[in-house]
Amino acid sequence: MTDLPIRDELRGVEPYGAPQLDVPVRLNVNENPFPPSEQLVADAARAVAHAVRDLNRYPDREATTLRERLAGYLEGESGVTLETSQVWAANGSNEIMLQILQAFGGPGRTALSFAPTYSMYPEYARDTSTAWVTAQREDDFGIDEDRALKAIAEHQPTVVLVASPNNPTGTAVPLDLVSALHEATDGVVVVDEAYAEFRRDGVPSALSLLDTHPRLIVTRTMSKAFAFAGARLGYAAAGRPIIDVLRVVRLPYHLSAVTQAVAVVALEHAAELQARVAQLRDERDALATWLRDAGLEVAESDANFVLFGRFADRHAVWQGLLDHGVLIRETGPDGWLRVSVGTPDETTAFKVALSDVLREGTV
Ligand SMILES: *Cc1c(COP(=O)(O)O)cnc(C)c1O
Repeated sequence: MTDLPIRDELRGVEPYGAPQLDVPVRLNVNENPFPPSEQLVADAARAVAHAVRDLNRYPDREATTLRERLAGYLEGESGVTLETSQVWAANGSNEIMLQILQAFGGPGRTALSFAPTYSMYPEYARDTSTAWVTAQREDDFGIDEDRALKAIAEHQPTVVLVASPNNPTGTAVPLDLVSALHEATDGVVVVDEAYAEFRRDGVPSALSLLDTHPRLIVTRTMSKAFAFAGARLGYAAAGRPIIDVLRVVRLPYHLSAVTQAVAVVALEHAAELQARVAQLRDERDALATWLRDAGLEVAESDANFVLFGRFADRHAVWQGLLDHGVLIRETGPDGWLRVSVGTPDETTAFKVALSDVLREGTV
């Protein structure tokens, strides 16, 4: 090993990822707990068969049909009209984010975000040799504008990354803040809206700012609200000059014909999926209330998970739940734990297990 010419920043590093444990109740990676409907399964199977007939050919490099459908979906979801040329798609928003840093980060450049936030961001920065800095969020996990602008002035980032709703806290930021960041930097401002569909009524999407904010990029994913994590489909909306540079850094034929085909089918079923999202939002609010009533602290959430605490020994609580067959995520600031919103049965199992663990008093 020591003889391999590995980059210094990769030496001894373990591959990142949440534990994939085979337990009855898995509420640890913010997946949508509802599998696709039988109708969606049948339609996707037909579309895959069709796509496979052409697999001797490379896929549509520009994913034009899919991008057109994504633009249509965003218009229905947020009321913002976008051209196909303002939307880009890739293998998960993870790949979108990597492409953004390939295009706008790089050696000698800095990406800035607001901690605590998504633990993958520093990895994209490392992998693109972009310097990574964070400013602290406030006690309620919001972002203080003055502090954010100071951090921009100090670090001069070319990429400012804001997850909204944020992972692992669930916090959405106001659009005024996004505007202020955009005003204060010459870099691109990326608003990661992986959880946008779960936002509460009255919480706007940054998509509505695209028209007036030429360096803004809004990223979305089909992994959460769309119940399509296994398909790997993320996308970005931005001004055309930004999308055009993402098209420069993408690998040739990065998005398989099979992926494109099943994603188009899922978008045709958006209405059925949105009904599930509404149910999950209600479940989220009920779960937050239950946790508060149990005497715990709960962060305000516009996502499909809830951050709760605080525990003197959060690992013991996490382990106690696992011993009861419930897997959640030990993440976020010390003392806090994150639980994804599951099916009603899964949520019940979580509540029973947590009540037991807290009553047993070992924590
Ligand atoms: C889950 C998540 C994503 C989604 O990643 P995919 O690659 O699209 O599955 C992006 N950003 C945040 C903050 C997330 O929590």
